[in-house]
Amino acid sequence: MRKFKHYNPKSIDEAVEKLQEFDGKSFVNAGGTDLLGTLRFELLEEYPEAIINLKSIAPSLAYIKEEGGMLKIGALTPLEDVAKSDIVKSKYAALAEAAHKTASPHLRETGTIGGNICQMNRCWYFRKGHNRFDCIRKGGNMCFAMAGENRFHSIFGAVKACIAVNPSDTAPALVALNATIKTTKREIAAEDFWDVAIPGSTVLDNDEIVTEIQVPTPASGAKSAFVKFIMRSSIDFPIVNCAAMIVNGEARICLNAVHNMPYRATKAEEAINGKTIDEANAEAAGAAAVTGALPMAHNKYKIQIAKAMVKRAILACK
Ligand SMILES: Cc1cc2nc3c(=O)[nH]c(=O)nc-3n(C[C@H](O)[C@H](O)[C@H](O)COP(=O)(O)OP(=O)(O)OC[C@H]3O[C@@H](n4cnc5c(N)ncnc54)[C@H](O)[C@@H]3O)c2cc1C
Repeated sequence: MRKFKHYNPKSIDEAVEKLQEFDGKSFVNAGGTDLLGTLRFELLEEYPEAIINLKSIAPSLAYIKEEGGMLKIGALTPLEDVAKSDIVKSKYAALAEAAHKTASPHLRETGTIGGNICQMNRCWYFRKGHNRFDCIRKGGNMCFAMAGENRFHSIFGAVKACIAVNPSDTAPALVALNATIKTTKREIAAEDFWDVAIPGSTVLDNDEIVTEIQVPTPASGAKSAFVKFIMRSSIDFPIVNCAAMIVNGEARICLNAVHNMPYRATKAEEAINGKTIDEANAEAAGAAAVTGALPMAHNKYKIQIAKAMVKRAILACK
């Protein structure tokens, strides 16, 4: 680990001022479960000059409440609180389940929902210590996974030739639940929060901080669910995960870990909308979800898993 300056701001405004002072050469730290690894292993091309510790303002940004027809979750709320919240479990089941299925109890106690949606991708070339692979995602000119090890990578092609996937568990639930991400500058629909131009990244400016997640309270009768396929049952990033919400016969379905941003499965939605939720219709929607898939040499198996995840998420909304 190299040296960096460390700040404990007393307010969100002070945190933003610090980000502006370092003009793109600093990061905010929430739970640190992702960020500290990137620092320790010196992954990034440019080592940050400063870390702005958001935990010093955590009490004001760690809450779960319903207000004004929506669920509001402070960005610094630990994932475990989201998973265990009675409000979230009762009306926003997909989100509670996604938080519950993230990592391990320790990581969920430390990791926050804001950090979960802002985490960097898990591609092993990107994550190789000491910036050994100067890949496209880091500003280089090659995606090593393209011709190399790509068994966990995108099955929906590449953006600017980076085929790493978005690994977040809560992200697809937030897209399916039609959430909004509130920041220090604006409100962004969850669906538009990840950046197509910079794979594995968000649309946040360098001096912008996520402050709150807002989820509209679903209409009565709405059902939502989250399912996740992993290699190890104890703790693992998703091979594929999927969240679905069905309200009055209309579905919102989002896959993750299949593309470099959460992938709204609109073809699956069209296939199930207005139909009875049964095995045959859910299976047809699963097949529709992977229309246009472009698997790599080693990840064709993910297509079948994506189909099954969509089918299971839909059936879980019955
Ligand atoms: C062993 C292991 C297993 C894991 N398993 C999973 C898993 O199964 N599923 C999964 O989804 N994730 C997993 N993770 C990834 C990660 O730990 C979690 O996603 C966690 O929620 C990240 O939250 P954090 O608060 O610790 O983020 P941090 O590490 O503090 O931050 C992560 C990134 O987000 C930025 N950031 C944090 N908060 C904000 C904010 N409010 N506004 C703007 N930017 C912000 C930081 O600058 C940093 O770039 C795993 C991590 C580890 C180490």
